[in-house]
Amino acid sequence: MLTYEQARRTVIEEVAKAKGPRATATISVWDALGFVLAEEVKTEREYPPFHRSTRDGYAVRAAEASAGATLRCLTEIKAGDTVTHSLVAGTCVQIMTGAAVPDGADAVVMIEHTSRDGDSVRFERAAQPGQNIVPRGSEAQRGETILSPGMRLGYAELALAAQVGATQLCCGRKPRLAILSTGDEVVSVDQQPGAFQIRNSNSVSLAAQVRLAGGEPVLLSNAADRIDDLRAKIERGLKEDALVLSGGVSMGKYDLVETVLKELGAEFYFDAVAIRPGKPAVFAKCGDAFVFGLPGNPVSTMVTFDLFVVPAIDLLSGAPARDLPLVEARLGAVLNEKQGLAHFLPARVEWRGTTPEVKALPWQGSGDIAALARANCYLVVAADRGQISAGETVPILLRKDVV
Ligand code: AMP
Ligand code: MG
Repeated sequence: MLTYEQARRTVIEEVAKAKGPRATATISVWDALGFVLAEEVKTEREYPPFHRSTRDGYAVRAAEASAGATLRCLTEIKAGDTVTHSLVAGTCVQIMTGAAVPDGADAVVMIEHTSRDGDSVRFERAAQPGQNIVPRGSEAQRGETILSPGMRLGYAELALAAQVGATQLCCGRKPRLAILSTGDEVVSVDQQPGAFQIRNSNSVSLAAQVRLAGGEPVLLSNAADRIDDLRAKIERGLKEDALVLSGGVSMGKYDLVETVLKELGAEFYFDAVAIRPGKPAVFAKCGDAFVFGLPGNPVSTMVTFDLFVVPAIDLLSGAPARDLPLVEARLGAVLNEKQGLAHFLPARVEWRGTTPEVKALPWQGSGDIAALARANCYLVVAADRGQISAGETVPILLRKDVV
């Protein structure tokens, strides 16, 4: 059985291998959050476009503004003012944050370090050449590439595009992931379940996880635990870039997903991973579509999605597969887990100062969505660890949607 690291690597290798050129679309900078850039974005001028003051204060020649010196203030420059004059020797100019520093000045002294009497400005400490000025062109040269194909657009990347006037961005189309739940007991979330039925919460979490990861969910209805219904709905799902199934991959008599995938000629890369929850996870390819058969217990579905589907979405979007957001935390309370499988336990990490401390939450196993809704991370217990004492350092996998 593969470890989760091996299984992830398998997904990354197989999806990377299949990667062809992606269709692109032009997306407004207002709507492009989470898209992956398909073209370079270049600057149209230098940044900053002028020597920019980073402080409210006085523009000076540093050599003249020694400690205790006095200079006459001739005028003021505010942000946005056109500046064409040079600083006259023996004088200073009052200047605001974001304003252009005039030629001749090579430092800005913070107003807090000066005192003023009429036109006369006294400097309390010596100015250093270059201080509080960002030189023209120091952030980027004209024509420089500032965003590259394959970058996922977050808020800073979008702001950078906006800064250089790139308001229409050529992006990869989001990969479409069909979501198909399975199970005779599952009813749609807006239906009243019978006494022994459950609502289809997995389709809701999966759609949200697909969106968060940068994909476009395509919701198929639920398939009954019958070959004919499963087959018809799986065939529909295979028309998308990937199909994500929940349920029907365990050892039960009515777990028929693998049977149907085999009938349809799927190539299987794995059908079990040494993790709990999530051990029966399946990864296959059928035709041109990748297929993830995730176990149906809601927490299993969520964990296995984050481990295995997210990197596939990255690659299908034209981005490199992102690393797992694993970080270390101090264990807050002793843990006892069975060895043999890596465990992903719903847990809460809290930052005491800068040191994260994590505690596993009480839970009823992989069906317990409420425990995960209280969690902001998974505590990862390696397969070869049994007891772990309080105070030890343990890896945690952040739930990036809430931390
Ligand atoms: P399975 O993987 O099909 O054996 O299902 C495991 C458990 O997850 C069972 O208790 C199912 O009732 C539950 N389950 C399966 N599909 C869903 C779903 N779409 N939403 C919520 N729970 C589900
Ligand atoms: Mg089932």
